[in-house]
Amino acid sequence: MSSRIWLLQFCLLQFYVSLLHAIPPPPVQCYGNGCTVDNYQGLWMDHIPCKAANVVYPTTEEELVKAMAEAVKCKQKMKVVSKWSHTLSKFVCPGGDDGLLISTRDYSTAMSVNQSAMTITANAGVQLRTLIDYAADFGLALPYTTYWDGVSVTGVVSTGAHGSGLWNKGSALHEYITAMRLAVPSTEEEGYVRIVSLTDVDEDLDAARVSLGVLGVILQVTFALHPMFKRSVSLEARADNLLEEDVLSFAQAHDFGDITWYPSIRKALYRLDDLVSVDSPGDGINKYQGFQGIPVAQIEQARRGEEFLEKTRNAATACKISEMLLNKRVSDGNGFLNDGSSFTGFPVVGFNHLMQASGGCQDSYSTKQHILTPTGVQSQSSCASQKDGIDEVLPDSAFCYWDPRINSSIFYQTAIAVSLSNISELILDIKKIRDIDPNGLCGLGLYGGIMLRYMKKSRAFLGINEDVVDIDFTYFRSRDANSPRLNGDVMERN
Ligand SMILES: Cc1cc2nc3c(=O)[nH]c(=O)nc-3n(C[C@H](O)[C@H](O)[C@H](O)COP(=O)(O)OP(=O)(O)OC[C@H]3O[C@@H](n4cnc5c(N)ncnc54)[C@H](O)[C@@H]3O)c2cc1C
Repeated sequence: MSSRIWLLQFCLLQFYVSLLHAIPPPPVQCYGNGCTVDNYQGLWMDHIPCKAANVVYPTTEEELVKAMAEAVKCKQKMKVVSKWSHTLSKFVCPGGDDGLLISTRDYSTAMSVNQSAMTITANAGVQLRTLIDYAADFGLALPYTTYWDGVSVTGVVSTGAHGSGLWNKGSALHEYITAMRLAVPSTEEEGYVRIVSLTDVDEDLDAARVSLGVLGVILQVTFALHPMFKRSVSLEARADNLLEEDVLSFAQAHDFGDITWYPSIRKALYRLDDLVSVDSPGDGINKYQGFQGIPVAQIEQARRGEEFLEKTRNAATACKISEMLLNKRVSDGNGFLNDGSSFTGFPVVGFNHLMQASGGCQDSYSTKQHILTPTGVQSQSSCASQKDGIDEVLPDSAFCYWDPRINSSIFYQTAIAVSLSNISELILDIKKIRDIDPNGLCGLGLYGGIMLRYMKKSRAFLGINEDVVDIDFTYFRSRDANSPRLNGDVMERN
């Protein structure tokens, strides 16, 4: 038995080895009689596929407006989906079987920076990594972003996505929007589509900042920038006995700090992440291993290991592995590299755009190594005769660890926002649940622990109305909807 456990631990550690050439599959696939759209894990929460009648891949505003006008005229439901569909919830699903998917995969990626106004304007096809790198070329920074840089700029604002911290306007990207250009459905007289331009003086901008994709198509978005700065990052593992007190003082003490909590092993990992002068020495980067391409064989071994733990109800081993993974995060820098290629110790200091977000496994999509990509605008009739895009999976390929074409990691993510005034009480409650079944929450440690991130009161109508801690619980999910999860009852109580 013990050799099996060590094999499993070895497999899970190998899970973090990084390589190149990941090839995320396209989320929209079309067959003779229609299309389906998936999220990036290839399985919606309700296990029910999302169907649509057709998909369009406009490259310009004109093409997009034309397709949209046709759909409005026919009273067809429509939803926008980015190149990768990174949202787990079914927001991109038009509903019914006869909707239209508008993909921004091939949409213009034009960008421009206004140096005197310190803003950047980006079209709907722009990826977050491209945006922050482009702003950096002008000595400017978008203060906060998501931790993953593979998202589209329009997708990320639509869902209210965020980093962590209470500095400046807070950690949500939509707080930095100063203007938006949208295509919205309209009357026959107006040609079925109207272009709306909103700026900071329009109250409607606060409705459009976070729209879950239901207010029309965002064509362009403008963000306020900040002069470039550097960040200094350190990771510290501490006992969790004072977490309910620390969680408040930590928010004030660190501009971009977050905490990941491993309740069952009674530890928390504090990310001390602060703004420092752009002149501070350091060429650090953030190359988080979990977002690099990983060999298929290793991803599948790790998944099999996790399935084995679930099947054998082996929470104690999950606890041991969680603790090893936590210690490893501190000892190997968790992807923070002091000089861009190696980790020699904390703090790691580097330019904001190279520290705030990370990615990698999505990038080699453009190499098209094993992917055949469909091109151009697809009309209803041309939508498509063969399965779009997927060629073959080779065993030495390296994928994002969630790639649905293999037996990859698949997980739930539950997020709640708790006001700063209630967060200590919540932590004490979770500790009580933990104490009833001390190993019951170890599964969370296999996914990096419970993540606590700070967000500031928002101006967006669909934003949060006070300062909060956003809490993410990530945990094992079976591909079989009817399989009970190990300690699923404990997770539900959380
Ligand atoms: C590995 C990973 C890490 C992540 N890290 C974070 C994180 O640190 N913080 C965080 O908050 N979130 C995080 N997320 C979640 C992610 O930020 C959101 O799911 C985001 O919305 C995904 O953007 P997307 O470009 O893939 O959009 P999609 O998933 O394709 O779409 C999201 C929504 O935006 C709408 N939309 C997209 N483009 C347009 C448009 N042009 N016009 C109108 N509506 C549009 C869609 O209809 C849909 O409602 C992470 C996700 C992954 C996969």
